[in-house]
Amino acid sequence: MAIRSIDEIDIEGRRLLIRVDYNVPIVEGRITDTERIHASLPTIKNALNRNAHIILASHLGRPGGKHVPEMSLKPVARELSSILRRPVMMAPDVIGEDVEKLVELVGPSQLLMLENLRFHPGEEANDREFARTLAGYAHVYVNDAYGVCHRAHASVAAVPSFYLDKGAGFLLLKEIEYLTTRLEDPSRPFVLIFGGAKVDEKIPAIRALLNRATTVIIGGAMAYSFLKAQGHHLGKSLIASDDKVEQCKEILAEAEQAGVEILLPVDHIAAKRLSKSARPIHVDGIDIPDDLLGLDIGPQTIERYCDAIDRARTIVWNGPMGAFEYDPFARGSFAIARAVAANRQTTIVGGGDTISALKGAGATRGISHISTGGGAMLHHLSNKPMPGIEALEA
Ligand code: AMP
Repeated sequence: MAIRSIDEIDIEGRRLLIRVDYNVPIVEGRITDTERIHASLPTIKNALNRNAHIILASHLGRPGGKHVPEMSLKPVARELSSILRRPVMMAPDVIGEDVEKLVELVGPSQLLMLENLRFHPGEEANDREFARTLAGYAHVYVNDAYGVCHRAHASVAAVPSFYLDKGAGFLLLKEIEYLTTRLEDPSRPFVLIFGGAKVDEKIPAIRALLNRATTVIIGGAMAYSFLKAQGHHLGKSLIASDDKVEQCKEILAEAEQAGVEILLPVDHIAAKRLSKSARPIHVDGIDIPDDLLGLDIGPQTIERYCDAIDRARTIVWNGPMGAFEYDPFARGSFAIARAVAANRQTTIVGGGDTISALKGAGATRGISHISTGGGAMLHHLSNKPMPGIEALEA
């Protein structure tokens, strides 16, 4: 069903509630990364130019349904105000008489930031009464917070159910364009790259995409669970529980039946332990000696993976190829990052660690779409319900 863009909704001179994602890192009252604030600007500027009366709502951290002063959105309101060079009023709370008075005061092209939605238990409980109050603040609702669209929380699920005039902001539209539309019938070869340690988060996504994929590249610790499923010895490497290894075995069988190529490491960078000073050892073969643990893909594996990446016309990547936070084990993730960025076709990358690896390799600029939601992206790719997106369908 169609989802309207903010551009297609009449917001001129009307009160507009925008659900943004300002879940930014704050250390001692200072925002250490303002990327999410900058990412929200296209939608906010659109609303400012069209004289909307703007009310911004976001969560920050996990205050657990109560006021936690360190998780106030005040520093975010200040930062947004200095970026936009205009005042951003800060509400003392999310609901209550004082907030309602402020909502009435917001004029055309003026901004009010509500306090952290998660200061109230109603947000995460998707409480209808809490949602009704929020919906009462504005005539139009726009969601631009992809990172929470996989959760049935009030501000993205129950609140839009009160609206006829609702839609998506530019950030969310781009996520839907890349993660739904472009993947319905992706240009082939379609190459999936999965890594990291949490096998159970990625297995549903691999399963859901398997029939459309040409090649699935697997790296990081999760590769050892797949290699174990093939009967290999992996020394002290991180391996998932037996039931997950069993699921890896099933995926290998399904892939073979569907004619999908699965690429697994053929050599490794290993060490006796995981630390910054650990001596990296090249293991030239699939099996890893008993006293070592695999911590990165090896040079022959990098070459094979990069060949498949170079030929791809659509790429989805989530999860690093090794313990890249430690210098001796970053080479594989950085090489894959550079190869993905050098591919001029459709490239989609998500997940906090994967984006860090892209940044570490200086490779962010070549990517078609960097997703703003790690968990949300995996959920979306797994074809699981996305309440925040479904609630916008008219
Ligand atoms: P995930 O959250 O599942 O994407 O996992 C990311 C984490 O996996 C990162 O912190 C990596 O350091 C870690 N990781 C990747 N490969 C390995 C490995 N071979 N051994 C241990 N940890 C790894």
